[in-house]
Amino acid sequence: MSLNFELLRETSTGGRRGRIDLPHQTVETPVFMPVGTQGTVKAVAQDVLESLGAEIILGNTYHLYLRPGHEAIRRMGGLHRFISWPRAMLTDSGGFQVFSLSDLRKVTDDGVQFRSHLDGSSHFFTPEHSMDVQIALGADICMSFDECTEYPADRARAEESLRLTMAWARRSLDHFRAHANDVPWRVDFAGRKQSLFGIVQGGMYHDLRRQCAERLVEMDFDGYAIGGLSVGEPRELTMEVIAEVLPVLPKDKPRYVMGVGYPDEIEQYARMGVDMMDCVLPTRAARHGLLFTSEGRVNIKNKKYAEDEGPPDPACDCMVCRRYSRAYLRHLMQAGEALTGTLNTIHNLAYYLGIMRRVRAGLEGAAPVKPIAREF
Ligand SMILES: [Zn+2]
Repeated sequence: MSLNFELLRETSTGGRRGRIDLPHQTVETPVFMPVGTQGTVKAVAQDVLESLGAEIILGNTYHLYLRPGHEAIRRMGGLHRFISWPRAMLTDSGGFQVFSLSDLRKVTDDGVQFRSHLDGSSHFFTPEHSMDVQIALGADICMSFDECTEYPADRARAEESLRLTMAWARRSLDHFRAHANDVPWRVDFAGRKQSLFGIVQGGMYHDLRRQCAERLVEMDFDGYAIGGLSVGEPRELTMEVIAEVLPVLPKDKPRYVMGVGYPDEIEQYARMGVDMMDCVLPTRAARHGLLFTSEGRVNIKNKKYAEDEGPPDPACDCMVCRRYSRAYLRHLMQAGEALTGTLNTIHNLAYYLGIMRRVRAGLEGAAPVKPIAREF
């Protein structure tokens, strides 16, 4: 058995309150997942993430494959044990980073040839290899190997990319199922296994998106993601694609929109029926001095905060807002102190996780759903 998804409540507009039971953690949805690219959510220690209430974080397959290497992580019992994170984890397929970071890519039907952005060494990723790496890392949820369609892309390019993504989804699933017992975990979770999600691509073409979603649903993944969004398109397009795809996906499996977004976006998508989201925005923006607050965006570098003794966000009760002033956070940034990224990131993550907590509380008032949970 892999995951167990329980849909608890649903609004008339599609918002869902649910629960994903994973080997390392039961995750309350809708959920925001902080991104831990290289085995760390940048600048924040794992115990702090726990106290912020993060139930699931991401790891990046491409980065961890290159350094320290998935075989080393497997030998050390998997990524949870290596980074000392007891709760749930999700790894991406490596595809997005291969396409966005590496040099000299060559895409064939078989896979992608690329050079490492670290040392120029040559590597070849196939769907099967991506599965092997993710199985070695041992995340609770793995992602099928896809080709992320860039924006803008003409129809011919989107169709070709979709053809590859669907062929690779099939190969990912077959290989993943054939190696379901290869987890690196040293703890037995009563026979619980890793799960695999399929990724819907198709650019901004609604019919291609629907076609991709239908084909993936036929393949019967444990959950479904909508990828290739937040790649430079206007926000209305992002929402249109999500609204087009969600009704095609089965109600009794989790739905994940990858790489979104701003605070108002994640709230909006959660209310539309998206169960899971991740984004580097709260952590990356924090390191550049941008705080998301109940009063809007605060650029902490701004001179007007030089003697502002108020908390970063008066409505926030995170450990940073309870203790430190805007003036101090500005000073740390100006002085280039290492603590600046840590404190800013803790607040931004608290803000994002708080949004999802409020959305979940709001959804508690929705109509209960007749139990449709099932085991996979
Ligand atoms: Zn705060």
